[in-house]
Amino acid sequence: MENYLIMQRSQYMLNITKIIQQQQDVFNTGQTSDISFRAEQLKKLKQLLQKNEKDLYAAIYEDFAKSEFETYMAELSQIYHEINLSIKNLSKWSKVKKVPTNLANYPGKSYIIPEPLGCVLVIGAWNYPYALSLIPLVSAMAAGNTVILKPSELPNRTSKIMAQIINQNFASGFLAVIEGGIDETTEILKHRFDKIFFTGSTAVGKIIYQAAAKNLSPITLELGGKSPTFVLKDCDLKISVKRIIWAKFLNAGQTCVAPDYILVDKSIEKDFLNELKQQFEKNNEFYNQDSFVKIINNNNFQRLQKLIDESKIYYGGECNKNHRYISPTILENITFDDKIMQDEVFGPILPVITFENLDDVISKIKEREKPLSCYIYGNNKKQIDKILQQISFGGGAINDSVMHLSNSNLPFGGVGNSGFGSYHGKAGFECFSHHKSILHRSNWFETSLKYPPYKKYKQNLLQLIMRI
Ligand code: NAD
Repeated sequence: MENYLIMQRSQYMLNITKIIQQQQDVFNTGQTSDISFRAEQLKKLKQLLQKNEKDLYAAIYEDFAKSEFETYMAELSQIYHEINLSIKNLSKWSKVKKVPTNLANYPGKSYIIPEPLGCVLVIGAWNYPYALSLIPLVSAMAAGNTVILKPSELPNRTSKIMAQIINQNFASGFLAVIEGGIDETTEILKHRFDKIFFTGSTAVGKIIYQAAAKNLSPITLELGGKSPTFVLKDCDLKISVKRIIWAKFLNAGQTCVAPDYILVDKSIEKDFLNELKQQFEKNNEFYNQDSFVKIINNNNFQRLQKLIDESKIYYGGECNKNHRYISPTILENITFDDKIMQDEVFGPILPVITFENLDDVISKIKEREKPLSCYIYGNNKKQIDKILQQISFGGGAINDSVMHLSNSNLPFGGVGNSGFGSYHGKAGFECFSHHKSILHRSNWFETSLKYPPYKKYKQNLLQLIMRI
C-alpha cells in the first residue's frame, strides 16, 4: 500500500512538472500575449460556462445546497461580468502608457509596457467555489498568462465540474485544473510559478507565502478576518437591518466579507434587535432547513455549534447535524472577550455588541488585526469620517454590506492579516501583469554633466537643476 501511494505521488509530481513545462513552453511562444487570442479564449470560456450552467448548478447544490439563484447572483453573473469587461477593455488595458520624462533624461520618451507574467497558479477557496477560482482565472487570462487552477477540494463536485469543463476544452499548456487537497497543493507549491494568487484563510496564507518565497514568486493573498459593522443611532433602521440580514446570511454566513459582528449604538439596541427578529419572522420559510444553505462540512458545523453561547441567544440557535443546518442566530450582550469574538465566525451566527462611546469601540478594533471589510450604517458624517480615517481595513460600504464587491471599478483585497494585493476589473488585469518601465533616449543632444571627471562646477549645476 505504501509503495502504491509513493508511486501515485511520483506520478502526480511528474504530471504537474509536465504541465508546468508545457505552459512555460506555450508562454514562450508569445501566443498567449496576443490580444485577439486572449479575447477568443475568454469568449470560449464564457460559452462553455453558459453551456454547462445546469451542471454547475447541480454540482454546487450537491456540495452545500446552494440555490440556483444565489449561484447565479453571487458567482456566475460576476464571472460573466468580469469576462465581458475584460474583453471590452483588453486593448485599452494592454496599451503602452506614456508618462512624462524628467529633465535629466531630456530629450527622451518614457513609457510603461504592461506584459504578462508567465505561468501563474490560482488557488481557490470553497465558499464561492466558482467565483473565487474563475474570476482570478479570467484576470490572469486577460493579462496574457498561462494558468494552473487548483480549486478547493472541499466542495468536491464543483471542483470536478470545473476540472471537466476546462481540461476537456483547453490545451493543458494554456489552462489546466489540477484537483487536490493539502498534500497535492503542497506538491504543486514545490514548483516555481511566475505568480501565485491565493484565496483562503490567514493561517494557510502564511504557508503559501513561505512556499512562494522559496522561488521568489510574486503573490497576492486574499484572506479573511472579522469584519465589523457599525449601526449608528441615526441610521434608517428598517433598510439597514434588511441589508445586514441579506449580507450576513447569504451563503449561510460563509462569506469572507460578511458582517462578522455588529456594533450598535446602545440607545437603539432594543429597536435594532426587535427589527432583526421581525424581519426574520417575515421570511421564515427562506431560512428553514429545507431552503437555507448548508454548512460546508461536519468540522465547520461543530466549530460553529461551539460558538453559540446558549445564555446569549436572542434569536435562532437551532442546529441539525444531519442536515448540517444552523438557523440564523443572533447573540446579544456580547463583549470583545467572548469566544465568538476571537476568530472569524464564517457562519450564520451574528454577535451583537453595544457601544456608548464611538472612540472606545474604535480603539478596541484598532487593537485587533486589520479586517477585510468594515460597514457603517448611519448618516452622521462626522462619525462616518472618524471610522473611515481611524480604522484600516480592506474595503467596505456605507449603508450597505458586501455589495462593494460587485463594482469592478473598486479594487478588491485585504490589508495586514486580511491579505495584500487586489483584483476585480482593471485591478485584476494589473494583478497578473508586470509593468515594464522604459526610458527611450534620443541621441541629438548630449552633455558631459554626468560623466567623469566629476568637477565642482558640474555638482553646482546638478544642484541647480535639482531645485527646478
Ligand atoms: P483554506 O485556507 O482552508 O483553503 C484555501 C485553499 O488552500 C484550498 O484550495 C485548500 O486546498 C488549500 N489549502 C488548505 N490547507 C493547505 C495547506 N496546509 N497547504 C497548502 N494548501 C492548503 O480556506 P477555506 O476554508 O477554503 O476558505 C475560508 C477562508 O478563506 C476564510 O478565512 C475566508 O475569510 C477566506 N476567504 C477569503 C476571501 C477573500 O476574497 N479575501 C474569499 C473567500 C474566503
